[in-house]
Amino acid sequence: MADVLAQIRALIALSASDNLDEARNASLAATRLIRKYGAIISLPPENIGTSFPAPTSKRRGDGWRRIKAKYAGVCVHCRQSIRKNTPIWWSFDKGAMHKDCYEPSGKKKAER
Ligand SMILES: [Zn+2]
Repeated sequence: MADVLAQIRALIALSASDNLDEARNASLAATRLIRKYGAIISLPPENIGTSFPAPTSKRRGDGWRRIKAKYAGVCVHCRQSIRKNTPIWWSFDKGAMHKDCYEPSGKKKAER
C-alpha cells in the first residue's frame, strides 16, 4: 500500500507539469488509483477548518435577491403585509417575500 501512496504522490506532482498531456494523464492516473484503492485525502492540521469563501453576492441563481424593502408591500407567499425597511427576498418578476417565508435552501415553502 505504501507503494500505491508513493505512486499517487508522484502522479500528483507530475500533474503540475508544463506538458499539458503529461499533466492530464498524471491527473487521470492519480484519480484512478485514489478511487481503486479508496485512498483517503486529508488536510494538514493548519488547514483544517479552511473552507471555500462564501459567495459575496446576495443574488441567488433562481432570481430572488435579499434586499431591504424600499416600500411597504404584500408578501407573495403569505399575503401578509411587508413593512418598509425590513429584510425581504425580492424577485423582479415574482415580487417580494418575507425573509422567513423564503427558505434558505432556495426552495419556496409550499403554497397554501
Ligand atoms: Zn410572508
